[in-house]
Amino acid sequence: MKVAALIPAAGSGTRLGLGPKAFVQVAGRSLLGRSAAALAPHVDEVLVALPAGLTLPRDVPARAVTGGETRQASVLALLRATDADVVLVHDAARPFLPGAVAGAVIAAAREVGAATAALPVADTLVRAGPGGDWGTLTPREGLWAVQTPQGFRRDLLLAAHGAALADGFAATDDAGLIARTGGAVRLVPGDARLFKVTTPGDLALAQALAPVWDAAPV
Ligand code: C5P
Repeated sequence: MKVAALIPAAGSGTRLGLGPKAFVQVAGRSLLGRSAAALAPHVDEVLVALPAGLTLPRDVPARAVTGGETRQASVLALLRATDADVVLVHDAARPFLPGAVAGAVIAAAREVGAATAALPVADTLVRAGPGGDWGTLTPREGLWAVQTPQGFRRDLLLAAHGAALADGFAATDDAGLIARTGGAVRLVPGDARLFKVTTPGDLALAQALAPVWDAAPV
């Protein structure tokens, strides 16, 4: 059984104000380099979707593919560029991937067909009212925050992407595309360290964690 890791990093996303996010450095290594290196021991190959014209820096152990117009199109390009039986789709912006989570997602994807790392929600959840103040309390029981990696049998994810393309449907992640076609998605316990680097506050957390992680990866 062949497993490939797929990292869509073809966006120009510059919300951190530091250029394309995948190339932002944390303690001497890019987010993309860290994510690719964390995935590599668990898979047969790592593929990264990049904007047209960009090449992979040397510190990223992966093969590059040109991405598409959207994240979904970039994942589809990655799916078409591998013949792996199982794929792990992972955000470049989640650089601290515990090995046990990667292994558990691959195992669940093999068993169920689709699986994602996710964490039970710990905070109280509230929908803001029209003025931006407290609106409606949302019970958090049974709610999970979805992380990556997300694992799939490649044929299942290709079919779900094909259906979404035909219907003009856009999702923020790949597990959502499987669920939309009625497929089961196993929730695998993720890890707080798998947080997504999105805001300057997240970047500060990543910079604080990096030396600890690099000394003793989990
Ligand atoms: O911009 P957004 O936050 O939706 O991007 C999510 C992820 O998808 C980022 O890692 C980005 O690089 C990737 N992406 C992509 N191809 C695009 C747009 C976004 O691979 N055309």
